[in-house]
Amino acid sequence: MQKLGASTAMRDDAIRIESLRKTYSGGKGQPEKQALKGIDLTIPRGSVFGLLGPNGAGKSTMINILAGLVRKTSGQVTIWGFDQDANPRQSRAAIGVMPQELNLDPFFTPRGALEVQAGLYGVPKQDRRSDEILEMVGLTDKAHAYARTLSGGMRRRLLLGKALVHHPHILVLDEPTAGVDIGLRQMLWENIRKLNQQGMTIILTTHYLEEAEEMCDEIAIIDQGEMVARDSTANLLGRLDSKSMVVQPASPVAELPQGAGITAELRDDGAVVLRYHSDKTSAEEVLAAVHGAGISIRDVKTAEADLEDVFLALTKSG
Ligand code: ADP
Ligand code: MG
Repeated sequence: MQKLGASTAMRDDAIRIESLRKTYSGGKGQPEKQALKGIDLTIPRGSVFGLLGPNGAGKSTMINILAGLVRKTSGQVTIWGFDQDANPRQSRAAIGVMPQELNLDPFFTPRGALEVQAGLYGVPKQDRRSDEILEMVGLTDKAHAYARTLSGGMRRRLLLGKALVHHPHILVLDEPTAGVDIGLRQMLWENIRKLNQQGMTIILTTHYLEEAEEMCDEIAIIDQGEMVARDSTANLLGRLDSKSMVVQPASPVAELPQGAGITAELRDDGAVVLRYHSDKTSAEEVLAAVHGAGISIRDVKTAEADLEDVFLALTKSG
């Protein structure tokens, strides 16, 4: 690697991960688990970056290493230009993490939890903004309630607040909207957009691919501890050049259409979804395959590839 290029890149990157490996030791009779098998990844400053992958891919492991909650087995992690091993304090100060687990001390109030967190990060009293953060995450009226009396959604909002107490450059959110209601999801996204507009780099994992498609400028997909894609959202979507055709049959389908370059799938609602590459297969050929299977068409629609298609094509779980 060229020295000059590396140092320039380092200055502009929010996160730089090199050859990152994590092996969990199995403990009693359990085998070791290689959760990360040598990941290289750089995340530019100012972006909204999506980290996607099926369950068990290693997303939380990677995020928890960034957060300093899990020790890496080997590799190098640089956060806002600070090597995590050489400058643990500075690299930790640059990043705030909203974890996947709802781990809150039940005896703290939201305001108390924010103050304790600020104390842990050495934020001086005059620089704390606990009330402002409570307002932002919509917990002002719960400021003095015990955490154990908070609903799941309120706990999640408090975790977001805790990640922000030390004014980090980078905010990392691990599945922030998994299992939350629509109102909270919208609130989280509004907050995240606002923070990003103010210059904060956002890294998030999500299971909701349409969410990643809408929110993220760039995306990395990991599967079984390995990186399988890393590109701008637009390029990822363009990469497949895949189209799908959804056929509503006039009567229940007995046989799925077959043809070179066509994959057909029967949806729960009885519709047939056909995926094909428009550079290799024409819509006419797809329609011919539909007729060939004896299906008469009540309605038909076509669509470009979405992130779901990319994801399924790239991860083995698909
Ligand atoms: P994801 O967040 O993408 O679902 P994780 O990082 O949580 O994936 O897990 C990656 C793999 O590492 C999984 O196989 C998981 O079972 C394993 N794993 C995670 N945490 C531990 C741990 N503390 N001890 C042993 N194995 C673990
Ligand atoms: Mg996870």
